[in-house]
Amino acid sequence: MLTRVIATLGLACAALSCAPEPPPYQRTIYTFGTLASISIYDQPHAEASAAADDIEQALARLNRDWYAWGPGELGELNRSLADKEVVDISLELGELIGQALEFGEASDGLFDPTLGSLVELWGFHDSADEASVAPRAADIRALTEAIPVRVELDSEGARVIASATGVVIDLGGIAKGAALAECQEILARHGVRRALIDLGGDILAMSPANSQPFEIGVQDPRGDGAVAVIAAGRGEAVVTSGDYERFYDQDDERYHHIIDPKTGYPTAATAAVTVIANDPVLADAAATALMVGGIAKFEELTTNLGVELATLITVDGAVVHTEGMQARLQWLDKIDGAGTD
Ligand code: ADP
Ligand code: MG
Repeated sequence: MLTRVIATLGLACAALSCAPEPPPYQRTIYTFGTLASISIYDQPHAEASAAADDIEQALARLNRDWYAWGPGELGELNRSLADKEVVDISLELGELIGQALEFGEASDGLFDPTLGSLVELWGFHDSADEASVAPRAADIRALTEAIPVRVELDSEGARVIASATGVVIDLGGIAKGAALAECQEILARHGVRRALIDLGGDILAMSPANSQPFEIGVQDPRGDGAVAVIAAGRGEAVVTSGDYERFYDQDDERYHHIIDPKTGYPTAATAAVTVIANDPVLADAAATALMVGGIAKFEELTTNLGVELATLITVDGAVVHTEGMQARLQWLDKIDGAGTD
């Protein structure tokens, strides 16, 4: 009986062209060490599927080329930097390293793409899990001495110049943002106007002007489900960094994958940061830098990085956000102090 009613309603709707919005084309893939989902709205299946194919291919290529310990271009560069100080690379990689170094300067060294050996020492380059053991203090200290690195670009390519051998460049704090920028270009090329790409917490919300924004859940850093919902669209990136994605606990300390370059230890005071920006690369770098800076540096860093929309949740559940963020956030009453600024 129920089936028949629905079918009849469906027919009536088709005739009056009042059918509800069809569900998006969806695909889930594993890339950048995480599950990623692609949702494409308002497109014929064949076109959406072709766009998703291109995105899947591009993400596989970028993950390979931008993973510091992989077989691709950044892995090659790092293997060369082990015993060389000057290495030629592609323009694309050079531009991304150059951008990462600029975020390093703008964040007064809190974002640091040259801390690959520390990430490796802590085991967060691949296999860290609950059985992992924190490294020895002396080994950590030995690696906190930064090796200055710069990049020269010309029309042909780029060149990395380090002041000593042994630097390991890690673009993990920025790569997913840069990959989202690439996804955005691919979607535009395919004529897609409404889509949601989620690279495990780095989200691109593409929608036409005057259309409904997406409602994006902000993960509860200490529990299941969301603590807040964010409205975003028109190509905005919504990027979250947290201490709950890759971590191990030892002697009541949580060691996770975002490291304070000045101490060599994982940051301890901040549980999660969410940044909204039109530039996904900025959003990604800023979320990582704000995790390191914590509440104390929140205002200074958002100003210096040019971030207008950001929120930070401490490990104690306190919340701070920029003025503009209040209008985008709807708290779900799970956090003490939510809604304060
Ligand atoms: P996720 O990749 O989980 O979204 P982030 O964007 O914050 O989170 O990136 C974390 C990654 O960035 C780490 O796995 C590491 O490779 C690298 N990283 C860790 N600490 C820093 C830092 N202070 N500055 C720049 N990159 C960092
Ligand atoms: Mg980041």
